[in-house]
Amino acid sequence: MGDPINVIGGGLAGVEAAWQAAELGASVRLYEMRPVVQTPAHRTDQLAEIVCSNSLKTDEPGSAPYLLKEELRRGGSLVLDVAEKTRVPAGAALSVDRIKFAEMITERIEDHPNIEIVREEVRTFDWSADTPVRMDAASASSPNAIDHDQAAEKRGLADKRGSAPTIIATGPLTSDALTAEIMKFTGDDQLYFYDAIAPIIAADSIDMSIAFKAARYDKGGDDYINCPMDREQYEIFIDAVLNAKSVPLKRFEDTHWFESCLPIEEIARRGPETLRFGPMKPKGLRHPKTGEEPYACVQLRQENLMADAFGMVGFQNHLRYGEQERVLRLIPGLENAEFLQFGQIHRNTFINSPKILNESLETRSNPQLFFAGQITGVEGYVESVATGWIAGKNAVRTLRGQPLITAPQTSAIGALCRYVSNVETKNFQPVNITFGLLEPLPPELRKKYRRKRERHMVQVERALEDWDTFMAGSEKAA
Ligand SMILES: Cc1cc2nc3c(=O)[nH]c(=O)nc-3n(C[C@H](O)[C@H](O)[C@H](O)COP(=O)(O)OP(=O)(O)OC[C@H]3O[C@@H](n4cnc5c(N)ncnc54)[C@H](O)[C@@H]3O)c2cc1C
Repeated sequence: MGDPINVIGGGLAGVEAAWQAAELGASVRLYEMRPVVQTPAHRTDQLAEIVCSNSLKTDEPGSAPYLLKEELRRGGSLVLDVAEKTRVPAGAALSVDRIKFAEMITERIEDHPNIEIVREEVRTFDWSADTPVRMDAASASSPNAIDHDQAAEKRGLADKRGSAPTIIATGPLTSDALTAEIMKFTGDDQLYFYDAIAPIIAADSIDMSIAFKAARYDKGGDDYINCPMDREQYEIFIDAVLNAKSVPLKRFEDTHWFESCLPIEEIARRGPETLRFGPMKPKGLRHPKTGEEPYACVQLRQENLMADAFGMVGFQNHLRYGEQERVLRLIPGLENAEFLQFGQIHRNTFINSPKILNESLETRSNPQLFFAGQITGVEGYVESVATGWIAGKNAVRTLRGQPLITAPQTSAIGALCRYVSNVETKNFQPVNITFGLLEPLPPELRKKYRRKRERHMVQVERALEDWDTFMAGSEKAA
């Protein structure tokens, strides 16, 4: 089968890259540092562990997140297949039981005859142009560093490493040693922002005589638990959020947040009504007792198939744990809430991809070296999977001396790859997939379809048609 492709990082992008390469018949070595070295957000040793919300966003046809998922489904994505098999009720969204999801992906990767999993932290790699990427993996931060290196020698890993393409998919929480190494490669051109995690609450601690089950505009029946607030309760809550103590951040004065994942205290600081137009919006919800829309509402989404844990939707925050207990228990229905996980904050690192990557996700200075996942500056679980999908396929093509593929310009995956590799981009910032990134319709179609919803529907249809043609073509060429 030839030299193995190295995939560094067994997160969402890494498992997809490894799977796609292995399914094309290549031999893959997947390096994952957990459990030898942990990240600040992961809790388990499973591959593809989801660290925050269990939602892979809306799956409503006609939306950009649906299009991205549909392209991956049609492209034989491992992650989307497992997501479908482990989905939990969540209205129009595709949400998963995070434990079962990670377990099933780990099992599928472990069982794949072409994939070897190596549980080591990769700390260095040699990126000299036009030579195969040489890597050095060690678990030096673990007490067993020497044992691990010796074990690697014994398994012949040290010799074999590096004679084939390498995909770096180590995510927003890339280990410090590798981050330093990547910074050397990118010329210190690395960026960051802060991202936060939302709390999870034990279902049996929610007072269902106050909270009620419903989904917005009845999409998905009873999938969410809703905690309604009247005006007075809302004002007291906002006041408490604004006066609660946060966990101090290093270099707080430099802090930049990811705008679509702001902590609730940041949102509240932007104005007393802002939360009511954000994660606490009552739109589309009717209180079953009064038949009226509440003044504000906190939603909780089912976390697992057992339905014994619910995540607070959009309630990421970085308040001190004691303050979270005090403030969040002011929410009607959560007076006795038991917190299975508190909100947290993490630094989220990415490279300045427009200066470094081509659209097929290999680096400009070394075609054997690829980046995939959140580290490329895409934001979100499915966006990370999508870049892993492209990088995995292209690593095999590099190995076989075939021309690399780029996704169709009209597709969601094409749009993401174009965004991260576009040299024209100024002030590069991570993005989720939106219609703003997709190629606009030609003027005659824009004239014909005046309503935004119609135009989006046509964009989705066009993208999927192009995607099917692309898939048929790339299967023939593989
Ligand atoms: C705190 C936080 C909350 C987030 N919340 C959401 C959310 O709610 N919704 C959403 O869509 N996105 C969210 N994201 C963003 C992003 O979608 C996820 O981080 C996603 O998991 C990125 O996928 P990835 O494969 O790039 O990285 P990851 O899934 O993080 O995978 C990277 C893997 O690489 C491993 N690794 C790191 N360094 C090394 C090394 N040197 N050697 C070997 N292995 C290594 C890690 O252990 C990890 O398993 C969040 C990110 C953060 C940091």
